[in-house]
Amino acid sequence: MLKRYLLAPGPTSVPPEALLAMATPVVHHRTPEFSELFRQVGQGSRELFGTSSPVLILAATGSGAMEAAVTNTLSRGDRVVVVEGGKFGERWTEIARAFGLCPVAVEVEWGRPVDPADVTRALDRYPDTKAVLVQHSETSTTVLHPLEEIARATRDRDCLLIVDGITSVGVVDAPMDATGVDVLVTGSQKALMLPPGAALIALSEKAWRAAERADLPRQYFDLTRARRSAEADTTAWTPPISMVYGLKAVYDLVATSGGWDAAYRRQRILAEAARAGVRAAGLELLAPESPSPAATGIRIPDGVDGRGLVRHLRDVMGVTIAGGQGRLEGRILRLGHIGYADTFDVVVGLAAIEMALANSGADIKLGRGPAAAQEVLLDMYR
Ligand SMILES: *Cc1c(COP(=O)(O)O)cnc(C)c1O
Repeated sequence: MLKRYLLAPGPTSVPPEALLAMATPVVHHRTPEFSELFRQVGQGSRELFGTSSPVLILAATGSGAMEAAVTNTLSRGDRVVVVEGGKFGERWTEIARAFGLCPVAVEVEWGRPVDPADVTRALDRYPDTKAVLVQHSETSTTVLHPLEEIARATRDRDCLLIVDGITSVGVVDAPMDATGVDVLVTGSQKALMLPPGAALIALSEKAWRAAERADLPRQYFDLTRARRSAEADTTAWTPPISMVYGLKAVYDLVATSGGWDAAYRRQRILAEAARAGVRAAGLELLAPESPSPAATGIRIPDGVDGRGLVRHLRDVMGVTIAGGQGRLEGRILRLGHIGYADTFDVVVGLAAIEMALANSGADIKLGRGPAAAQEVLLDMYR
């Protein structure tokens, strides 16, 4: 028997409350009963996003919402500035290219946050830029980019700030309206503790104005149509009904656990504990400067087979910890502590990493990582 632990930065484990809610018999979506549920979930999503704009639900993973963000606000040939500091930054560029935009990359070393001055310089150099595309939390490098500073650069220009918040929404306190974000997207299988299959997206007033002019092709992901339906507490197409039940359960669970502020605090402590554990184990953090509270990136010591390490953790020890993506494949581990993750998940993750490294011949003294994490985690119970 192998007990499984899912400690990746997504998909993440789903609390029983949400699993049970998703087992609710499917109701028809054109009913008052569903509209009431939909209205409540819409309210919960606006609170989560920190916006007075409607938050739309798409039957897609986060990448679908990223595509919708682009196609609904931009036009063929538009110049966009992309913060490219990881795999998901590259995804913005791929989407932009696929739809005939002209992306300009602000390249950032993987593992480091973007310097906001570099974004400003790109905007000064290309004053016709219509949008800046960025990840708030770049999950592939476990970096948190400085969103507020970037927002200061876009706010007073005729330029949208389009943010992939897939591992920052529900993780970091960054209310969309107050921060100055124009388009914000997230997906269900990260901090929202649900299976993959629903994405959330909201547009600021400035972005909705851009949507009136945007000429990129869109049909299923036509957000103007989605908004009209949402205003009538329904959706244009069949919504992911069971996921909407799941969202309601998650919002209720968060509300009865101290609200999102308590969740942000828990995230901060878990991430701090994970980093303390990594250092105490004698390992190197991938992103020491501006780490994301969603996941901790750990450099795999030289001489250790990184791919083999991830397989050993997963197949022999039952612990799923993500490896690296793209150019970081085989070189890092990414310990997720997002969503339903708690104190003891971090301890288990660090213990498993130490044990797997010891098995692969690395010079590791067992127990130092978990002990350092425990010291930080005591804060959760004070
Ligand atoms: C997971 C993730 C995505 C991709 O989401 P999918 O659900 O796989 O479409 C995009 N951006 C970030 C930052 C992510 O963490």
